[in-house]
Amino acid sequence: MQEKKIAVITGASKGIGAATALVLARDGFDIWLNYRSDHTAAAAVARQIEELGRSCILLCFDVADPAAVKESLTPLLDLETPLVLVNNAGFTKDTLMVWMGDSEWKDVLSVHLDGFFYITRLLLVGMLKKRAGRIISIASTSGQSGMPGQVNYSAAKAGLIGATKALAAETSKRNVLVNVVSPGFIETDMIDGLPTERILPMIPMGRIGKPEEVAEVVSFLCSNKATYITGQVIAVNGGAYM
Ligand code: NAP
Repeated sequence: MQEKKIAVITGASKGIGAATALVLARDGFDIWLNYRSDHTAAAAVARQIEELGRSCILLCFDVADPAAVKESLTPLLDLETPLVLVNNAGFTKDTLMVWMGDSEWKDVLSVHLDGFFYITRLLLVGMLKKRAGRIISIASTSGQSGMPGQVNYSAAKAGLIGATKALAAETSKRNVLVNVVSPGFIETDMIDGLPTERILPMIPMGRIGKPEEVAEVVSFLCSNKATYITGQVIAVNGGAYM
C-alpha cells in the first residue's frame, strides 16, 4: 500500500492557497489547511478536498504568532510527518515609504518572514529525520523587481527568497528540497480593486494569471518529476519580470 502523503498549506481559505490545496488533494495529498479568519471559505475548501477523496484538517491560526503555530501543529506532528509545506499565507499593506508606519512595516515582514520561520522550523525536524520533504514558499515579482508602494512587501518577499536559498543549502543532502514560486499578478482578493488598465501593459502575455496556474507549478515541485530542483525561484508571471 502507498504511504499516506500530507501537505500543509498556509493561507488556504481562498486564492492561491485554496487552489494549491485542491490541486495537491487531486495529486493524492491529505491536507492540513491553515487560514486566519474566514471560517466559511475554509470550510468550503475542506468540503471540496473531501469530495476529491482526501482528508482535510482545518487549522485556524495566525502564522506570525509563534505560540499559536506551536499549539496547533505540535499535536499533529507528534503523530505524522508531512511531506510538503507550502508557505503561502500573506497580505499587503501598501503605501509609499514616506507615509509608512511602523505597524505597516512590521506586520508585513512578520506574516511573511516570521510565519515562514516558525512553521518551517517546526516541520523541518520530521522531514530531516525522514529524509524527505518539499518546502515551497510563495514570494512575488515584487520581491524580485521591487514595486513602488511596496517597500515592506518587496523586502518580505525578497527575504523569503534569501531564506529559501540558505535553507536549501542546509537541507538538500537530506533530500529536503526548498524552492520559491514567485507569482506576478494573479486573480485573487489580494489584487481586487487594482486598476487593470495600469496592470495589463506591464504583462507581456497581456492578461492576469489564475490561481490554478500557480498551483500547478507547486504541484510539479511536490511531485516525483521534480527530484533535482532546489534553491530555485520559479516565476509564474506571464513575463512581467524576466
Ligand atoms: P488572498 O486571496 O488574499 O488569500 C490570502 C490567504 O492568506 C487567506 O487564506 C488568508 O486567510 C491567509 N492569511 C493572511 N494572513 C494570514 C496570517 N497571518 N495567518 C494565516 N493565514 C493568513 O491572497 P492570494 O492572492 O491568494 O495570496 C497568496 C500568496 O500569494 C501571498 O503570499 C501573496 O503575497 C502571494 N502573491 C499573490 C499575488 C497576487 O497577485 N494575488 C502575486 C504575488 C504573490 P483568511 O482570509 O482566512 O484570513
